[in-house]
Amino acid sequence: MKKYIGSYKNIYICQSKDEKILKKSSSGGFVTSSLIYALKNKIVDAAIVVSMNKEKPWKYEVALAKTQKDIISAAGSKYTIIPLNEFLNIAEKNKKLNLAMVGLPCHITAIRQLQKKGLYKNIKLLIGLFCGYNMPFEATEFLIKKSKIRRNQIKHLKYRGSDYPGGFLIKTKQKLSFLPKTYQQYPEGHTTISNQKHYFLPKGYYDFLNLMFVPKGCLRCKDYTNELADISVGDAWNWDNSSVVIQRTELGNNLLSNPLVISKKIDEKEFYRMHWHNIKHKKIGDPLTLKAIMLFIKIFGRIIPFRIISLIVKRITRTKRRWSLKDVGEHWDRTNDYDEINKETYSYFRRFTDGYKLSDIKDNAYVLEYCTRTGNGALYFAGKRKNLRFVCMDVSEKMLKIADENLKSKGINFKTILTRTTWFPIKDNMFDNILCFETLEHLPHPELTVKELARVTKPKGEVLITMPNTLWEFVHWFAAVTGIHHSEGPHLFIPRKKMIVYIKNAGLKIKREETTVLIAFGPKFLVRLGELLERIFKNSLMKYIGLRRIFVCEKI
Ligand SMILES: Cc1cc2nc3c(=O)[nH]c(=O)nc-3n(C[C@H](O)[C@H](O)[C@H](O)COP(=O)(O)OP(=O)(O)OC[C@H]3O[C@@H](n4cnc5c(N)ncnc54)[C@H](O)[C@@H]3O)c2cc1C
Ligand code: SF4
Repeated sequence: MKKYIGSYKNIYICQSKDEKILKKSSSGGFVTSSLIYALKNKIVDAAIVVSMNKEKPWKYEVALAKTQKDIISAAGSKYTIIPLNEFLNIAEKNKKLNLAMVGLPCHITAIRQLQKKGLYKNIKLLIGLFCGYNMPFEATEFLIKKSKIRRNQIKHLKYRGSDYPGGFLIKTKQKLSFLPKTYQQYPEGHTTISNQKHYFLPKGYYDFLNLMFVPKGCLRCKDYTNELADISVGDAWNWDNSSVVIQRTELGNNLLSNPLVISKKIDEKEFYRMHWHNIKHKKIGDPLTLKAIMLFIKIFGRIIPFRIISLIVKRITRTKRRWSLKDVGEHWDRTNDYDEINKETYSYFRRFTDGYKLSDIKDNAYVLEYCTRTGNGALYFAGKRKNLRFVCMDVSEKMLKIADENLKSKGINFKTILTRTTWFPIKDNMFDNILCFETLEHLPHPELTVKELARVTKPKGEVLITMPNTLWEFVHWFAAVTGIHHSEGPHLFIPRKKMIVYIKNAGLKIKREETTVLIAFGPKFLVRLGELLERIFKNSLMKYIGLRRIFVCEKI
């Protein structure tokens, strides 16, 4: 398979630990973090980067970055063709400096060829971006024209603006009456930009635009992953705001020791799952039907009304889970009454009591609780078994802070990790037990998360998952709108059959499965009646009508 991505040493998923870099960059901020690391550690004296022009904020500018500030201000992809000469001029003018350069495959290939002839030897470090397609500046002009915003009204323009994955964003100097009051990127989430000062097109538009504007040269280009770079970087699709990084040379290896970056090794198979569509496009060739669509869009794209294009883009990019882990974290950060309400809700604690009864957890176990919220799961299990050690992970800063206080006050042995990526910053085969209570339905990529849970479990270790039955979606909605319970935030309940497939695909085997809780709340006599009925219908009706599904799985 190396024939598709060139020679390499390892492949990683990485993310910058710096929130500011993460917000400004395109995928996980690996490139920006690496350039800063290379400067600080004197691997290079400066870097050739592409930023946006200060006087003409709609235009890119190739510049020499000598400070951390310069590098951060150049973060973010510029989806436009940039002639190699613009990079070479800067290298030529700064012959005495050891330079890093970020470039597309065509830039890096050309630099390597020039270096073979003894030229531009001062460019020491080549960081390569993946490149599926590119567009001439005419495509940017096309979008500006569509926005109806005049150039002198533009404050800044970003190709990957707003929250990940972002999109084409123009911010204007003043309010413009024809711009909408709010854009909401995720209907269930809260990522909004507003005030009639923003023009925003989600990233999906580029798929359309690429086909309209792609130059002939790009259609002939065979290098997707920047095969001659020291290190190559692309989007880690599916893994939420992360970069996928191909380490190729020893110099590239240095960048992976950066303490400001978290990383996880992945195998080639995982890589192909993310990027096969583009590798196929560049290395194998597109099927005839796609070629025909491309030709049609190239010829007619510019005359199709934008409203129709937007409908097509919305249709193509529609997924049911249109929220990010950040949205989930922000929802729980806003929830004020989590423990207060749950103390009054009978069904809440049953996730722990029923889960514990079905689990084989032993004394001294090393346990990961994923999405620990206020730490109640860890507290309950710690009260049942001796010497448990916990890692409590969550996407909400506020919940994790409360968990920290709660667990400390009870003298539990634990550490907390705040994470907003689908992948976990944890090595393989670490834990004896995993606890994951009512969490998967909130995640944008539950299948990948189950794989992560399995990955970090020791062989023969146990993964305990609880989640609501899809039949109860209405009750949850009703409880939230009537104020009986806090809102669930972004979520989509997962059907049982689908969950079983996720578990199997992750390399787990179901040891025990039970559906519990019939009456979720109410007066004592009703709850007791519910418990009686649960016992009677345990092996029959409960599977269909019970509230909570519990899966106790073993890593094969
Ligand atoms: C035209 C183009 C096409 C791309 N196609 C794909 C793709 O098909 N699949 C994929 O996975 N990834 C693609 N990428 C890469 C992706 O968009 C991100 O740049 C990459 O994942 C790095 O993200 P980051 O957060 O680590 O970078 P950041 O930390 O945001 O840093 C980005 C760096 O790239 C430099 N840069 C920005 N635009 C350009 C440019 N046009 N030419 C040279 N340098 C530039 C900036 O100077 C900055 O230093 C493409 C990028 C571009 C520019
Ligand atoms: S597709 Fe190839 S030729 Fe076109 S910009 Fe990307 S790397 Fe360069």
